[in-house]
Amino acid sequence: MFKVLKVDHVGIAVKNMAEAKRFYTEVLGLTVQGEEVVEPQKVKVCFIPCGDSELELLESTTPDGPVAKFIDKNGEGIQHMALRVDNLQAALAELKAKEIRLIDEVPRYGAGGASIAFVHPKAAGGILLELSERQ
Ligand code: ZN
Repeated sequence: MFKVLKVDHVGIAVKNMAEAKRFYTEVLGLTVQGEEVVEPQKVKVCFIPCGDSELELLESTTPDGPVAKFIDKNGEGIQHMALRVDNLQAALAELKAKEIRLIDEVPRYGAGGASIAFVHPKAAGGILLELSERQ
């Protein structure tokens, strides 16, 4: 049995990370944490802590990456929401047993050293839902 602990972060697709960062830092007064390229997902990310949760800015590293495709289709904006769980393996096993449609059946590497897996939007009310576990 797994437990959802909190909203871990909201993932926001942007065309230009430097420009997007300026809004969050200069206008909203938040602080950006280290940038990281997650090569398998063709994305550059940075995290902006926001109380107990974070914002995750996502900029595609290639024109054919998933974030670039998202922006082509929807424009910039919220791309996914992430919930933190206490045990990702258990969560995936349980969702699978309930025949919930998953994008990732096994955990993969997420930015910041998290283990993550995506649930299909069709199973989550139209939201691309990321489950994440951090040690
Ligand atoms: Zn994320």
